[in-house]
Amino acid sequence: MGMDENKNNMDLDGENKKKKNEDICYLCRRPESVAGRMIRIPNNIHICADCMQKAFDIMSSGDNPYMSMINLPPTMFTFGPIQPASEGAAAKPKEEEDIVEEIDYRKIPSPHIIKARLDEYVIGQEHAKKVISVAVYNHYKRISSSAPKDVEIEKSNMLLIGPTGCGKTYLVKTLAKLLDVPLAIADATSLTEAGYIGDDVESVISKLLAAAGNDVEKAERGIVFIDEIDKIAKKRNTTSRDVSGESVQQGLLKLLEGSDVEVPVGASSKNAMVPMKMVNTENILFICGGAFPDLDKIIKARLNKNSSIGFQADLKDKYDNDENILQKVTLDDLREYGMIPEFLGRLPIVCAMDGLSKEMLIKVLVEPKNAIIRQYQSLLAMDEVDLVFTQDALEAIASKALEKKTGARALRAILEEIMLDIMYEIPKDDSIGRVIITKEYIEGNGVPVIELRGSMRKGHLALGGQ
Ligand code: ADP
Repeated sequence: MGMDENKNNMDLDGENKKKKNEDICYLCRRPESVAGRMIRIPNNIHICADCMQKAFDIMSSGDNPYMSMINLPPTMFTFGPIQPASEGAAAKPKEEEDIVEEIDYRKIPSPHIIKARLDEYVIGQEHAKKVISVAVYNHYKRISSSAPKDVEIEKSNMLLIGPTGCGKTYLVKTLAKLLDVPLAIADATSLTEAGYIGDDVESVISKLLAAAGNDVEKAERGIVFIDEIDKIAKKRNTTSRDVSGESVQQGLLKLLEGSDVEVPVGASSKNAMVPMKMVNTENILFICGGAFPDLDKIIKARLNKNSSIGFQADLKDKYDNDENILQKVTLDDLREYGMIPEFLGRLPIVCAMDGLSKEMLIKVLVEPKNAIIRQYQSLLAMDEVDLVFTQDALEAIASKALEKKTGARALRAILEEIMLDIMYEIPKDDSIGRVIITKEYIEGNGVPVIELRGSMRKGHLALGGQ
């Protein structure tokens, strides 16, 4: 068998020539007669079973966003004594046993371990990572069987404030994966007061139940992330009923605090045909996130007011260029912004995150375990092609992203644009061994440099082929 395979590989070129009309694997270039039955995907692309398997293996070896695209359960990783993931309703009986096991706080990894794992994925945001690690550690301690019964430990619900694309959702997603707990991500803008068009607040619990594979017990120790929470700030100067602002905050109060909620199973709305399950939200960790545009103005105004009184009066524009102004946020500022005091009272931990600088954006491109560039590199590695970015190319990408003002979100869009032609052209030519992306190419003044296999010959990639 092994010998046959070698022979087949050696004869590959000959085979290719002989059977011109055969389907050829898009990745390893072997014809169907050698590689076996092909999987056909649109655009006349064929992939052999081996390469398909390789692709799955690579993708599942880390937190890979492509996983969600192909709808496979994400690979869960364990650390410390936490059990491996058992996702969805299809969990095996043995894993179900693990789930029902009571959480013992001694098994919960300590904050520095949680932070160290977060460091592998999230760039910068040192303070936020520290705060979230401690909060989560305390939260799971609080709900563990060994928690003291005489002292009631307050819930560590959290509010993350930071500009778009600074990693709020990503931080929470990574955390939920590390801890192997279900996570529901909801958008506060889609929520409305019960009875009005839109989802009522309980729909977030139904999402969580779905993420837990309809396992109530698992859902009850999950995490709910509510994004765009600033959009439900109390509207000023409004005479109409505020069904998507203040009343949503009111509606969320009972969830944040802990109550029994009856939610439909396997559907987002209640109706007579859908079975219901009761979920207690007492031990669910709620994390809210928002960009809070213009909150800095409120903070500055307060700081300026305080500092312009008395002998130590400061210059009025002292805080104008303070990049870390959001770190100085207080509950009063948030109240002024339109968050109601009862709501803020149920989010005892407030943490401001930094906007990503150019240096941080460069790191986001290459450092995280699932960095975008690493993903492209592993895709091309399957074609045995090296993908190299020069340092000034990375800087050019980061500068372009910075202009878009959407944080790290812009990186993916930029890379997808520049990589499209490369991903299209490379498989056409077997002799290419390395592609070097240069600053000139990123800036639209050149083409990528290529090196041919087995020689030091350099050339330029001809782009724009049909
Ligand atoms: P938001 O703060 O608006 O919720 P996201 O968390 O959705 O932003 O970030 C968008 C994407 O950008 C993430 O999926 C992640 O890939 C990347 N990203 C953002 N911030 C960071 C960071 N600090 N470290 C690594 N990747 C990041």
